[in-house]
Amino acid sequence: MDIFEKAERLKQLPSYLFKEIDRKKAEVMARGVDIIDLGVGDPDLPTPPHIIQALKKAADDPANHRYPSYSGMNDFKEVVATWYQERFGVELDPASEVVSLIGSKEGIAHLPLAFIDPGDVALVPTPAYPVYNTATIFAGGQPYFMPLLKENSFLPDLDAISGAVADRAKLMFLNYPNNPTSAVADLEFFKRVVEFAEKHRLQVCHDAAYTEMAFDGYRSPSFLEVDGAKEVGLEFHSLSKTYNMTGWRVGFAVGNQKGIEGLGAIKSNIDSGVFQAVQMAGIEAIRGDQSCVEDMIRVYTRRRDLMVEGLRDAGFQLQPPKASFYLWVEVPGGYTSSQLATRLLEEAGLVVTPGNGFGDPGEGYFRIALTQKRERLSEAAERLKAMKLK
Ligand SMILES: *Cc1c(COP(=O)(O)O)cnc(C)c1O
Repeated sequence: MDIFEKAERLKQLPSYLFKEIDRKKAEVMARGVDIIDLGVGDPDLPTPPHIIQALKKAADDPANHRYPSYSGMNDFKEVVATWYQERFGVELDPASEVVSLIGSKEGIAHLPLAFIDPGDVALVPTPAYPVYNTATIFAGGQPYFMPLLKENSFLPDLDAISGAVADRAKLMFLNYPNNPTSAVADLEFFKRVVEFAEKHRLQVCHDAAYTEMAFDGYRSPSFLEVDGAKEVGLEFHSLSKTYNMTGWRVGFAVGNQKGIEGLGAIKSNIDSGVFQAVQMAGIEAIRGDQSCVEDMIRVYTRRRDLMVEGLRDAGFQLQPPKASFYLWVEVPGGYTSSQLATRLLEEAGLVVTPGNGFGDPGEGYFRIALTQKRERLSEAAERLKAMKLK
């Protein structure tokens, strides 16, 4: 017997679809090609200096060197509750309706362990951030996929879910503004989700990592703004994208008290909370000068416009997204997502993410992350044009 035989939960994970592109990328790089990586959803911009200063100061204080509280510092949770009130008009009790997270991925991944028993169904969008699916599998649950299709504005078609499946489901994952499609959802949609959740007695987990990364004055709503939402759901937030803090690992979940309590019970048995100095930096991020967010939006707006225009010039058709730093682009006729990604890499040194890597309905698309400087994006656009794909 193999001592390191993997557990079923690992064997059940979908195969890593980006393996092939990773291999080709290494190969092309070895040839000395100047690669422009539009694949990674990780901001290239640095964390604003006032946030770094807050960390430095807090790191010097021995009071912050001990184990933090599992559920988060009171000050952090109060700042989060105040922000929700000011930004969304949503009332939260900091003590029982907020928990700090080691990045929102951590909380999302742990949530099914609190509420999904083996065999339970979770409704999972596809294409999507892979964590919803893998976390369901880790808990022994059964993912039921909700396709996000262009004809439905990349929102799940709730009417297409059979009553039998919906009644068996314990949890529904959602993410708007969406990665990878960059679609947004309005309150009307969230209202229908709450009605669906009430009718079928299921919990909603809304991943709101991109609400602050929105353009042209668009303001993403919170799922919790809908009446009754707090009775059925939790919302997950992250400082990663808003403040260029992906490496810091700090986020939070808010919403239903029993939901927060369940998530906290899992966390208290697995991790020991977020380093207090990082939470204090998080407080500075949320409460401090927000001009850094305005700057960030200006940067991504210009990048978005540059790249949308470049893609259109190269023969692609797409609408500029209202939010997120992704472009979800239709593959021109005759290619699969992987074939196009391979051509872009081999002939133009461009790394993009083939859409099927996020789930089968992503076939026919590729994702561009606007995480490169304008000069590099211009260069990428020039190379695309030179390929004469259409
Ligand atoms: C980047 C991202 C997050 C944030 O993850 P953190 O763990 O907070 O860094 C969450 N959800 C989606 C869909 C993302 O793209």
